Amino acid sequence: MKRRVSILGATGSIGQSTIDLIRSRPGDFDVVALTAGRNAAQLAHDAKSLSAELAVISEPDAYGELVDRLAGTGIETACGPEAVTEAARRPADWIMSAIVGAAGLPPGLAALEQGTTLALANKESLVTAGPLLMGTARRFGARILPVDSEHSAVFQALVGEPVDAVERVIITASGGALRDWPVEDLARATVAEASAHPNWDMGQRITIDSASMFNKALELIETKEFFGFAPDRIETLVHPESMIHAMVGFTDGALMAHVGPPDMRHAIGYALNWPDRVSLPVERLDFAKLGQFTFRAPDETRWPALRLAREVMQAGGKSGAVFNAAKEAALDAFIATRIGFMDMNAVVETTLAKMSALRGLEISPVSLDEVLETDRLARIRAQEAIAALG
Ligand code: NDP
Repeated sequence: MKRRVSILGATGSIGQSTIDLIRSRPGDFDVVALTAGRNAAQLAHDAKSLSAELAVISEPDAYGELVDRLAGTGIETACGPEAVTEAARRPADWIMSAIVGAAGLPPGLAALEQGTTLALANKESLVTAGPLLMGTARRFGARILPVDSEHSAVFQALVGEPVDAVERVIITASGGALRDWPVEDLARATVAEASAHPNWDMGQRITIDSASMFNKALELIETKEFFGFAPDRIETLVHPESMIHAMVGFTDGALMAHVGPPDMRHAIGYALNWPDRVSLPVERLDFAKLGQFTFRAPDETRWPALRLAREVMQAGGKSGAVFNAAKEAALDAFIATRIGFMDMNAVVETTLAKMSALRGLEISPVSLDEVLETDRLARIRAQEAIAALG
């Protein structure tokens, strides 16, 4: 029987890789809904070629173009953030959550409320509202499968293993575009320089987050929220080749490493076909050719985001939502060349400090409204910090 699938964030890097995999197995899937932010041309093209039931664009200004491009096809259309969330409610067996940023949370929750399987690439939703997301999945009998390569790696290393025998989890990091720059030069790095990832081909925002290690910082928090490991058991390690994605260490000293080429189609394909494994169009590694893997300790002077992530993991409550909102505001300001590369750390640190006085910050959010309110307040504080730097 064909599986009904939807892709939230279909026009992005993860969304397009998901579509590649679906196209490679014609006849296995019925596409229910595809959503995008503003790229009407790509959305319409994919909706037509995959015969989707529904195409939704978040940005109202782009709606006219979507309607024109899909005229006469019989594909339903809608626009606006609420329509994106409604698309996630449409019955499907498997839904990819690949919207970038906190905007992915409301549709992610809506998808879980229909008790389906959610393939979660949108790490920001776990960082901002981990207990809410995991609790919603439990309440509605839904399943979350991790798509971030590191978390897919940990998930795979844990298959058949007793979770209480896990001693530590090591999440690897490539170090991003600027990993070999002298620390004192980082402050003057440009958007173009920070956007040139040495190994992974990803969206611009996550690529810059890789250079600043805010991406790894989000992933450390994501590891705690998804797997429930204590913060002091979660480590990061710089591994420039990006071949080992994560390692899980057990009480008997054994270490399970997940090794594969830096290609998101592996983690996406694993989630798409779980619990089965099917042949995927990814490179097979030749270790003799690779020769060696290298590792470095993460330097928190170069990457203060890692220290901030540890503080957030210890603090818990709503601090993840503050961290993510401040990070998103700081990244926007860096991309708009309002602040420098290292200023992003200062903006997040200042916002966390200012928001620490907020009543109830130590209590985890229990509703979407609480998350959105924390996000809103944190963005105001972050804008103040950005203005103070400018
Ligand atoms: P992209 O920027 O490439 O794509 C983002 C997608 O979200 C696009 O479809 C975009 O639409 C849509 N979108 C953007 N803003 C909104 C909004 N406000 N409302 C609705 N839709 C919106 O991101 P990536 O594919 O790189 O990343 C997606 C998620 O997956 C992120 O959370 C990222 O951290 C995570 N991830 C990504 C990896 C990668 O390799 N790229 C690896 C692991 C995790 P449009 O194209 O129209 O703007």
